[in-house]
Amino acid sequence: MPIIELKDVTYVYDGTDNLKSRAIKNVSISVEKGEYIGIIGHTGSGKSTLIQHLNCILKPTYGKVYIDGVDIWEDKKNLAKTRKKVGLVFQYPEYQLFEETVEKDIAFGPKNLGLSTQEIEKRVMKAAQMVEIDQDLLLKSPFEISGGEKRRAAIAGILAMEPEILVLDEPAAGLDPLGKEKILKIIDNFHKYEKRTVIHVTHSMEDIAKYADKILIMNDGEVVSYDSVDNTFKDVDMLQNMGLDIPQITKVLFKLRQKGFNIPSNIYTVEDAVNVVKNILIEKEKR
Ligand code: ATP
Ligand code: MG
Repeated sequence: MPIIELKDVTYVYDGTDNLKSRAIKNVSISVEKGEYIGIIGHTGSGKSTLIQHLNCILKPTYGKVYIDGVDIWEDKKNLAKTRKKVGLVFQYPEYQLFEETVEKDIAFGPKNLGLSTQEIEKRVMKAAQMVEIDQDLLLKSPFEISGGEKRRAAIAGILAMEPEILVLDEPAAGLDPLGKEKILKIIDNFHKYEKRTVIHVTHSMEDIAKYADKILIMNDGEVVSYDSVDNTFKDVDMLQNMGLDIPQITKVLFKLRQKGFNIPSNIYTVEDAVNVVKNILIEKEKR
């Protein structure tokens, strides 16, 4: 059974339903437990609208959302359960930090789950460790720490709730390359070591190519492709026609492939590319 299933989900924001006003249209997807899904698409393509259906923030105008096989809108009792299972990190989540200390901010979510003080403390420590927030930072005000630290603290608040499904809306947006790399690693670790399902919305193929199992491409409210990373990258033309930014290195290798070099299509990182090119040179020397 898929952990997430959307059946023909359509959402209209303003009440007057016409084809133009539909923010997402007939979205049907399923996600297996433990998968890492990257969602990509232009501004306004419906990414944020889609993910807000996963923890009951938005109710489908048409269609159904199932989490763990449960139709989440079938019974009011399902809402609280769903919100516990699905942790959603909004865009710029640091704007929602408001407590006196970073520690209290991270503890806010777990407290609302009604856990014991001891359990809350344990979770806060674990989450802080996962996002590399040091002990001394925990006692500072969230207003005294750097932008990257704030972002990580906000993410820790969601991780501390130990959601079965972690959904993130552009979690690395606006950070410098180092800050961004840290966030990507944190998400990857949560997926790998906690074995949780991850849904990661981004504008950058580069951010997800290395980590995701599958990529969902949205365009104008519709799903245009939902496939493995390898298959998605095979169609470089389609990606380019959609105006999506492909990793530079993928473009370079695609050109080499077109020129007849024997290069696998599933290379997205410079490190891997270096090895592939090295091997080609070695082969050439041998001949
Ligand atoms: P971005 O990359 O800019 O975050 P997105 O892919 O997340 O974009 P959405 O925010 O889901 O796209 O928007 C999908 C459509 O719904 C757009 O046409 C947008 O203008 C519209 N929309 C989004 N939020 C609202 C809202 N609160 N009220 C009315 N229309 C909205
Ligand atoms: Mg958005």
